[in-house]
Amino acid sequence: MDCIFCKIANGEIPSTTLYEDENFCIILDIGPASYGHALLLPKKHYANLFELPEELAGKAMILVKKMSTVLNEAVECEGLNVVQNNGELAGQTVFHFHMHMIPRYKKDTVKIGWKIGKLSDEDRDKLAELLADKI
Ligand code: 5GP
Ligand code: ZN
Repeated sequence: MDCIFCKIANGEIPSTTLYEDENFCIILDIGPASYGHALLLPKKHYANLFELPEELAGKAMILVKKMSTVLNEAVECEGLNVVQNNGELAGQTVFHFHMHMIPRYKKDTVKIGWKIGKLSDEDRDKLAELLADKI
């Protein structure tokens, strides 16, 4: 499969690796949104969050917490976003699951946001019926 993150995970394409274990790598993003932007990726190919096994999802979150804590102190940022995109419409460009750790600074140019909407009574009731007690 022609997947850039599979190639990074198995060493075919070089990357700056900050952490590695049997399941995951954490690397520096080649096109950083800000100083210190890092990516966690599983060594095995899963296209997105929906495909990622639950056991790996749990391990990924623990590593992201640890790496974010180290980043936060090392680069002296003033905030940090954890971002994870699924699907082209949601901004995913590499279709191998990954999590972004993006340190934030007062003068950075990162844009992550949305206009705050309003939850109608109809949507609230419909969504609650669709989603509550389903996991
Ligand atoms: P996505 O948009 O899929 O959530 O994020 C993909 C990320 O992968 C982008 O931030 C992009 O800069 C990064 N990226 C793409 N190709 C490479 C690469 O070859 N090496 C590294 N280190 N990062 C990459
Ligand atoms: Zn892959």
